[in-house]
Amino acid sequence: MIAPDLETAVESLRELVESARVIVPFTGAGISTECGIPDFRSPGGLWTKMRPIDFSDFLASQEARDESWRRRFAMDEQFGGAAPGRGHRALASLYATGKAPGVVTQNIDNLHQASGIASEHVVELHGNTTYATCLDCAARYELPWVCERFQATGGVAPACPRCGGFIKTATVSFGQSMPEAAMRRAEQLTLSADLFIAIGSSLVVWPAAGFPVMAKRNRARFVIINREPTELDDIADLVVRDDIGAVLEPFIAT
Ligand SMILES: [Zn+2]
Repeated sequence: MIAPDLETAVESLRELVESARVIVPFTGAGISTECGIPDFRSPGGLWTKMRPIDFSDFLASQEARDESWRRRFAMDEQFGGAAPGRGHRALASLYATGKAPGVVTQNIDNLHQASGIASEHVVELHGNTTYATCLDCAARYELPWVCERFQATGGVAPACPRCGGFIKTATVSFGQSMPEAAMRRAEQLTLSADLFIAIGSSLVVWPAAGFPVMAKRNRARFVIINREPTELDDIADLVVRDDIGAVLEPFIAT
């Protein structure tokens, strides 16, 4: 069913939420746009204007590593101070009730954690851009640490002081393999759900499309909240094509 208006959407969603035992939200860029974080993949988005740096290029050249960090710090100036939106806060409220054991996300912006969901309960399929790791020894580095060295050398990406490895934001780049542990946890969560809610994702990019299908096959109810139609609207029990913040705001616990 496609909800005819916002009121019906909220009412139908409330019924589904109330009758569910285990709710697993799956989020994409759309939940963060009201926080000022652009959807890189959308038409006119950053990635359609600037070619992303492939993982193989990052490994192969210091120049690519420098450029990658230059872009990352430029991004910080634009939306480094982003705060969780209504969608994030609603999901944090569901999590706080114990009904949603965790969130699976395609986002790298850390806003689910910032909204109060414990890090270990946020499954990040594409990693996290708010900190960095060494690609060899996995040591964690905070961005101010990287920035200080980057600026001190006139824009050269620093190497790991422990092992000399390359330091990269903890994101999954184009050409980099999906994080296996996160994929496994996402699958476990999906199979535990009797209500699976996809929010702000076009559900096109693999593996995004796989989890809702898996949930549906496992007989979960399946809801899609997204401004635009998605590839999976036909198999959803409820489709809401409305503003995500407006749809989820009534679910924020006060
Ligand atoms: Zn290292």
